Amino acid sequence: MGSGSGQWSVENRAPVRNDSVVSEYVPETGCLSIIVLGASGDLAKKKTFPALFHLYRQGFIQSQDVHIFGYARTKISDDDLRARISGYLTPCKGCERTHDEDVTQFLQLIKYVSGAYDTEEGFRSLDKAISEYELSKNSTEGSSRRLFYLALPPSVYPSVCKMIKSYCMNKSDLGGWTRIVVEKPFGRDLDSAEELSAQIGELFDEPQIYRIDHYLGKELVQNLIVFREDFGTDGRGGYFDQYGEVVLGQYEGYTDDPTVPDNSNTPTFATMVLRIHNERWEGKALNSRKAEIRVQFKDVPGDIYKCKKQGRNEFVIRLQPSEAMYMKLTVKQPGLEMTTVQSELDLSYGQRIRGDQQHFVRRDELKAAWQIFTPLLHKIDRGEVKSLPYKPGSRGPTQADQLAEKAGYVQT
Ligand code: NDP
Repeated sequence: MGSGSGQWSVENRAPVRNDSVVSEYVPETGCLSIIVLGASGDLAKKKTFPALFHLYRQGFIQSQDVHIFGYARTKISDDDLRARISGYLTPCKGCERTHDEDVTQFLQLIKYVSGAYDTEEGFRSLDKAISEYELSKNSTEGSSRRLFYLALPPSVYPSVCKMIKSYCMNKSDLGGWTRIVVEKPFGRDLDSAEELSAQIGELFDEPQIYRIDHYLGKELVQNLIVFREDFGTDGRGGYFDQYGEVVLGQYEGYTDDPTVPDNSNTPTFATMVLRIHNERWEGKALNSRKAEIRVQFKDVPGDIYKCKKQGRNEFVIRLQPSEAMYMKLTVKQPGLEMTTVQSELDLSYGQRIRGDQQHFVRRDELKAAWQIFTPLLHKIDRGEVKSLPYKPGSRGPTQADQLAEKAGYVQT
């Protein structure tokens, strides 16, 4: 969670969104209630509350104007919830206050309400608790902000959204807002994702919905947008017109795990070739391997330096294990001779990336992603695409390299 271009912010100045309209920047003065639904669960305990604690330690959550509510069916007290999560609140390096002091004060911001996900009674109790807190802060109803974080299985999203819409909305549009944050997975395939999007979309406008994809939250991925703009062309509107041939692999011994069915076809490795057809990317071959994306530039027709070739120019985006983005470029070797050498232009290793902006998935992006992968996933489910065996610790199935070669990729 964090501030961003038109995203949720707990800072004093943030874009005001009265439902679908992002208007001018004005100070947000009302108090903020963060409501974690599914507070008894694993995600809430291990990730959501620790992330909120992190924001608190960094000063993004101020105790005077932010309160946190946990909501779930499990009947526990405020202190029970606090005890569950306290072990996951890790110490902060270099913080002035002591860790114990931070934890104690942070936990005091948390209140727990128990209730079902589909009954009026539970959500009325939740609304009452939030409203009481808002009144205690002398915040007029209209300027208060309510952020609902659904740390729940997606099957519950529609009913929970209905309940929020019916009983827990911020009551006025005088500068306040209500937003919901949902976690992956957003469906199993295109149809189920579209159904879920439609159900939530009936209740909330797209600017009120924040779909978290942890890859999009990675700073490097966010930097791609900046990088794309550096090219100076309009990148929007591009489309993938097909999903490539694909090589899937499964490491030998995967099915020895007693929890994995003997006949499992689940891939643990994938190499795929995706082709993008738009003006912006014309003439480039895209190869994706593990958590790395390589855009290899084809040979220039009539290359005058052919005899001293250094390899193709390549743009590499590595998402993991350590984030990196660099360009392998053939450049002129300094000196009098007209010779070439391959050099790396390191654009954004981790330490160079700045900012804590996070991105979320919009409905049309989600749809586009599912449109690409659903046909493949269905083929896997039907057993029409088999995972090829490969040795643990190897580069994966040899067929993957063959596929890349067939798609015009040259090892450099
Ligand atoms: P849990 O299974 O722990 O569910 C969270 C809470 O939801 C439970 O404590 C339970 O609360 C309630 N719940 C569980 N099943 C149901 C059900 N069938 N109907 C109604 N309520 C139910 O899930 P997680 O916390 O692990 O994950 C929540 C969401 O986040 C999921 O969509 C998951 O895929 C996603 N996610 C999880 C990650 C993780 O690290 N755990 C990472 C990334 C995404 P109660 O019974 O008290 O109401």
